[in-house]
Amino acid sequence: MIVLTQYNIIPLISFVLYGIILVLILTSNRTRMSRAFSLYIIAMMVWSLGSFLMKTNVPPNSLFWNKLLQIGFVSVPVLLLRFSYVISEDTDKRFIIRLGYILIVFQIVLAYTDQIIYYAEYINDEFVYKITWGAYFVAVIGLFYSGLGFAILVKKVYLREVALRKVGLVLIGFAMVVIGGALNINETIGKYGIDILFNTINALLITYAIYRNKFLEINLIVKRGLSLSVYNIILFTVYAVIVIFAYDIITINFGVTDVSTVVLILVPIFLLMEPIRIGLLRLVEHIFYRKTVDRQIVLKQFSELINSSLELDTITDSLIHAIKEALDAKEVHLLLRNTNKYYLQSSTKVIHNKANIIFKLNHPVIKWFLRESGILLKTHLDNHVLFKGMWDSEKALIKWLNTEIIAPIRYSDTLLGMIIISSRIDDTPYSVEETEFLETILNNAAAIIENAKTMEMMQLQSITDELTKFHNHRHFQEIANLWIRERRYTSFGLAIIDIDQFKIYNDLYGHASGDIALKRIAQIIKSVTTENELLVRFGGEEFVVLYPNLSPEEVFVQAERIRSTVEHEFLLSADIREFLTVTVGISNYDIDGDTLEELITKADHAVLQGKQSGRNKTITYNATDEPSEQNASVQDKIKDAFVSSIYALAATIDAKDHYTYGHSNNVAVLSEALARKAGVNEDKIDIVRNAGLLHDIGKVGIPESVLSKPGFLNDEEYEIMKGHVVQSINIIKHIPNLIDTVPVVISHHERYDGKGYPRGIKGENIPLLGRVICIADAFDAMTTDRPYRKGLSLEQAVFELKKNAGTQFDPGLVELFIELANDGDLNRLALENRPSFNG
Ligand code: GH3
Ligand code: MG
Ligand code: MG
Repeated sequence: MIVLTQYNIIPLISFVLYGIILVLILTSNRTRMSRAFSLYIIAMMVWSLGSFLMKTNVPPNSLFWNKLLQIGFVSVPVLLLRFSYVISEDTDKRFIIRLGYILIVFQIVLAYTDQIIYYAEYINDEFVYKITWGAYFVAVIGLFYSGLGFAILVKKVYLREVALRKVGLVLIGFAMVVIGGALNINETIGKYGIDILFNTINALLITYAIYRNKFLEINLIVKRGLSLSVYNIILFTVYAVIVIFAYDIITINFGVTDVSTVVLILVPIFLLMEPIRIGLLRLVEHIFYRKTVDRQIVLKQFSELINSSLELDTITDSLIHAIKEALDAKEVHLLLRNTNKYYLQSSTKVIHNKANIIFKLNHPVIKWFLRESGILLKTHLDNHVLFKGMWDSEKALIKWLNTEIIAPIRYSDTLLGMIIISSRIDDTPYSVEETEFLETILNNAAAIIENAKTMEMMQLQSITDELTKFHNHRHFQEIANLWIRERRYTSFGLAIIDIDQFKIYNDLYGHASGDIALKRIAQIIKSVTTENELLVRFGGEEFVVLYPNLSPEEVFVQAERIRSTVEHEFLLSADIREFLTVTVGISNYDIDGDTLEELITKADHAVLQGKQSGRNKTITYNATDEPSEQNASVQDKIKDAFVSSIYALAATIDAKDHYTYGHSNNVAVLSEALARKAGVNEDKIDIVRNAGLLHDIGKVGIPESVLSKPGFLNDEEYEIMKGHVVQSINIIKHIPNLIDTVPVVISHHERYDGKGYPRGIKGENIPLLGRVICIADAFDAMTTDRPYRKGLSLEQAVFELKKNAGTQFDPGLVELFIELANDGDLNRLALENRPSFNG
């Protein structure tokens, strides 16, 4: 029968502890280091087992088991050195290890030929053994190998290449094992089995180092059961030792042999032990589970908190703080998904470069969560192939976040986001119970987060303008009224930004391009404002900016920046098509009024003034400058002045190309007549007349040699000639009151079949007035005398128009023009330099 005594209980405990350590290592990540270490542990187990069996009267006899002990004993120093090499990443020292293996075999042979210990027996509870020369040999080899291993590790610690915190306890354990082993050389000391006692202490030190100091980088998720088994082993040892010794003392010293009496004596001893036992339990719990916070309470508090709020920020903040508190983590971060990435939503840490903390959708971590359920551990990140290919920046981020656990937040099948948890404050590993808690709380949170996100998005949508992402009109009203009601700011400026002649832009380029332009102007406004300002899409092509806490002068400077930036981006750009400008009107709270209505009305007045004085202006409301009838008539005068300049300009071109003398005037007159015939609204007649006058104005920039060349132009000259359309626009766009002629002028060389220039647009896409001018222009050119040919007669010209109707010309307009000609209406027109068309 196996009887436990004070002699064999220690080696048994030592054996079990090493067994636990081995299981821990084998079930965690297997690195070279942990493999090397587990060999050393196995040797220690063999040593302990041999010792236990030797002292337990197990057949065949003590000497037999002593040889098993020796196998472990002689292996330990070599395996210890090997581990030292691995931990210090010294791999080129193979020879000495191989020699070590040979020496192990040799020593085992010595052991089994009784050349180390030739006699070992348990007599009267006392272990007696006799050594011979081989023991000295073993001692020398053992001291050499373990001494070298020890020295290597000490050196690495000294050079700070290995952290003392990690290997400190392990080194102390090594030293004890070596000393304990060496003491066996003396037969009188050796019989007390100090070596095994030291081995047991070594095992405890290693266990502690693994848990608390991340020795071997084992990031175990601790099972509560494992920590309890360590506790039970220690408790069992203490009780067993007490019982064994107390029994000896009671039976020998007091001569009591009656078992029930012995038990009666022991019971009070155990009761006295109880506080110590509880203390021990606390100690073990403290080592393995520092956290004593009741997770149920945290969970309850969290659900109470989120029940009182539907706001995403509040929910995510309380979630991460609950997790941080429950797990005692250093940091907790929460990432949520938007359309194309996972962004940092909340963190328990103050982070300034939040925008850098993102996981793209193709991030390996995201891919992992799409494949696997459950949490992702640092061990996976370190070892799984999926993460080997991470970019350096991705690795750096994970490291920077001190990532220990990443837990998914899933709602039905979608990965809403994830929680990133750093190591614990005291660096101990997390337990299975804790990860289960994490999964529970995230399961609860997922639906709530999803709800809050949807709410937030809906709220945002209801206050945002879809196209520009500015605040919409309704929300602007709310905010501005709030500012006023709560007297939030002592002063603020309100600027209305109205795009000039946007209708024309739409006519010219279509509504879709108009929308793009609106977006670009919104971007410009955004780029010249700060986060303090409130940006609003006020109406179709009107924006409002609210400038809190600025003086009227400052507001003007800021608003003027918008106007000038738009001007630079569009009007002054090389692309002639982009002739957009804005007019800005400003009013100031509470100088110009203390209701929103008043402020808007006054800013509107300022816009109107800007429009009347030629657009592309920034104007601050001024009570004395109210737009008035009188003002309007001044505007008319200005416009008249412009029109005179147009005539002057047109005359310049005609003068330059004297063969076409009067051409611009004639096109203007013919276009007007055709436009009227086509039923064009009276307020557009001005436009077509001005456009007619101006259509060739760009020819001032065409070299004389090309412009007045008799006969056909070659390709190169033709290209230069075509440039006059673009040149015309470049001139006109600087004359604010003539900007509405741009769409007409720019299209007077377009063809109905789309083969014209500069844009090659087709049919109805060509503005009507452009198609009108096109016919007038062609007709006047055909009927003009040239030095090398006489002008066509009316009939010939009409024939040409008919021939090209539907290809070059709008067939409907051609028909109308022919009607004009047939009715003799053309003769009644004030055409210059033309004989009567009656022939
Ligand atoms: P001005 O302000 O210089 O007096 O002339 P305007 O042509 O800009 O003024 P008006 O208010 O008469 O016309 C506004 C035009 O803006 C009407 C419409 O064609 C255009 N517009 C309004 N909202 C939108 C929009 O959302 N998209 C596009 N593409 N155009 C719009
Ligand atoms: Mg408008
Ligand atoms: Mg406008």
